[in-house]
Amino acid sequence: MASSPSQVPVGVDPTRPSIARIYDGFLGGKDHYEVDRAVMRKINEAVPEAVDIARGNRGFLNRACRFLANQTTLGQYLDCGSGLPTAENTHQIVQRANPEATVVYVDNDPVVLAHGRALLEENEFVHMTEADIFDPSKVLDNEVVRRHIDFAEPLVLLHVGTMHHFEGDGAAAVMRRYIDALPSGSYVVFSHFFDPEVPELTEVAKRIENILVHGPMGAGRFRTRAEILEMLSGLELVKPNAVSEPGLAACDEWWPDGPRLAPLSLAAQCIVGAVGRKP
Ligand code: SAM
Repeated sequence: MASSPSQVPVGVDPTRPSIARIYDGFLGGKDHYEVDRAVMRKINEAVPEAVDIARGNRGFLNRACRFLANQTTLGQYLDCGSGLPTAENTHQIVQRANPEATVVYVDNDPVVLAHGRALLEENEFVHMTEADIFDPSKVLDNEVVRRHIDFAEPLVLLHVGTMHHFEGDGAAAVMRRYIDALPSGSYVVFSHFFDPEVPELTEVAKRIENILVHGPMGAGRFRTRAEILEMLSGLELVKPNAVSEPGLAACDEWWPDGPRLAPLSLAAQCIVGAVGRKP
């Protein structure tokens, strides 16, 4: 049974905002409607630098894909909650290193699926399919996933910017089902809205969470370090940068492209990423 609003696909209902369209809007995309812009305006009024969350998340996704494509021999990527196509999508990054890497994108937003099928399936190694990513068996047993991903061989599972839209206490159980299905040597790329449990930052996180959870979206949780780590149990997390121990890091601090010239905004500190290997 659906317990998170996004498990019911937004369809063509013009009164329901879409996570995919709002996120894409923050990244500069054009596929948003008035109902999405109303949510974006509210978020921007509450936290003017909220855009740093979306940008930080997408930058992390890109660098994590580049890292895995260049430094492992893994050739299959299962991207859950892939979002609207932007300039640098998973297959474009990983196929630069490995032109025959297989990428299966999974989403349930009709706009994502339409654009995805048109723009992402640009070669025979890229596929897009529809499934509820909060119901792991729907993804793991999906026909397209099964046809193109070999679960006997290590793979990369991406759950980037997705699980914060899951409502309730079962987020760790959802991720456990996915991680259990991965063969040894697989990697998980993961990011999540973060409550750093520092009053000034928690305040920022709560301002956005209130709009998302108590508005028409009905979901968007900023979880604590312990709650997020619980979703990644069973994985060996890699070092997120030269100075930190293995674990979570603010997305912008996960192996950034260069030295930081300006401090991170408060919002940028409210989203974390991690890459983990299944032993
Ligand atoms: N992973 C991309 C990234 O990090 O750039 C996009 C993240 S976007 C914030 C979240 C995506 O998850 C959206 O495209 C949305 O449609 C999808 N999504 C949310 N709930 C879903 C569900 N229950 N089943 C399938 N897709 C879902």
